Amino acid sequence: MNEYEAVIGLEVHVELSTARKIFCFCEIRENPEPNEQTCEVCTSLPGTLPVMNRDVVTSAVKAGLAVNGQINHFSRMDRKNYFYPDLPKAYQISQSQMPIVTGGHVDIETKDGARRIELTRIHLEEDAGKLIHLEGQGTLVDCNRCGVPLIEIVSEPDLRSADEAVQFLKKLRAILIYTGVTRARMQEGEMRCDVNVSVRKKGDATLGTRSEMKNLNSFAFVAKAIESEFKRQTELLEAGAEIIQETRRFDDKTGQSYAMRTKEDADDYRYFPDPDLVPIHLTAKEIDALAREIPELPDARKARYIKDYGISAYDAERLTEEMAIADYFERAAEHTGSAKTVANLLISDLPNLQKDRPLPDPLKLAAVADLQANGQINSSTTKKVLIALLESDIDPVAYVQAENLLQINDVDALRPYVDKVLTARANVADDYRSGKTKAMQSLIGMVMRETAGRANPVLIQALLEARLAEPDDKA
Ligand SMILES: [Zn+2]
Repeated sequence: MNEYEAVIGLEVHVELSTARKIFCFCEIRENPEPNEQTCEVCTSLPGTLPVMNRDVVTSAVKAGLAVNGQINHFSRMDRKNYFYPDLPKAYQISQSQMPIVTGGHVDIETKDGARRIELTRIHLEEDAGKLIHLEGQGTLVDCNRCGVPLIEIVSEPDLRSADEAVQFLKKLRAILIYTGVTRARMQEGEMRCDVNVSVRKKGDATLGTRSEMKNLNSFAFVAKAIESEFKRQTELLEAGAEIIQETRRFDDKTGQSYAMRTKEDADDYRYFPDPDLVPIHLTAKEIDALAREIPELPDARKARYIKDYGISAYDAERLTEEMAIADYFERAAEHTGSAKTVANLLISDLPNLQKDRPLPDPLKLAAVADLQANGQINSSTTKKVLIALLESDIDPVAYVQAENLLQINDVDALRPYVDKVLTARANVADDYRSGKTKAMQSLIGMVMRETAGRANPVLIQALLEARLAEPDDKA
């Protein structure tokens, strides 16, 4: 499989968080009753006409600006004809030839470094409703989601692995949330993704035949779908078989994809300009005004964290993925001498300890970071303090004193513990002297236990090394 590479393009549907639907005045609310959030327009009753919601256009423009796309001064809505059991018009109003945004890019940070992923376009469209299948009774149609505004962001086939695809989606999601155009809650289906995968020999310039997997709504599913499709296509190519252009359904329970239908081309949808809607004109002045409303985006924050706090690009990327985490980090960083330690606690320690609990008071996390950065507590004590902080919101400084957890940094205080271990475990000491360097880790662990986990491990190691280098005069 090492001879092959995956070529991946994504089509990401994102629900815009406007107050009302795209072509009617229906309010978009949380958890409405079935068909409660509908009117004559979004249920396609005869004689009704759509009217474009200005907020939808401005949100799409902001999204385009945030990903450095070109905002088109002239775009139009097209009808995409298809049999949609969940969209009674039997066509979807979308954009085909003239999308609102062309181009753009998203910069991602992978374990192997930075990469720029180019975008093809962003277009506007309406969402379809939902079908509810009742076992043995039939199917119900819920039109609440009909006419909910979406943008579809189409990437170039620039992605080469599941990891890159996930980093791209995380970054795109962060940018759009910062911009304020969507909440992009994946479990609510507010961001979902179609994945196109083809496989070719590394070094080939031509693209292989692609397959498409639709409507994946978690990062984990996207990663699994890409990995399983890469394997399937590679095996077909190795066996000399042909790959068919098709749409496949990814089953997250089995981790396999199954053929759904051979892929239709754009022509099959008979796109044509929607005669009920006027084209969208945007002046340079209107676009400039919206550009001024774009807040500081993840990349700008990332650059600031690297410069101001000396944090690595990879860590800065992790911190800025969620705006809430980035805001939290900044509050804590203002109150500590070691923002870098706060970053480490947030990225590495807290996610494992937090479970479903909320993040602690940022000032208290800042205090924990200072205790560790100043050498007053070691890393194993830090975990203890963090757990106490999460469980019962303790005051870190008072807690460390009351529980007698301060790190022992005094060499004279540590020496008796070292001597005790070397005497009691002379066999391990002999192992080390005879060249088994791994024995050092066990000796450090034993001294740590003697001090109830409070010793400074760096000092212990130095003391042990010095003692073991001495001639063994006791023997
Ligand atoms: Zn409506």
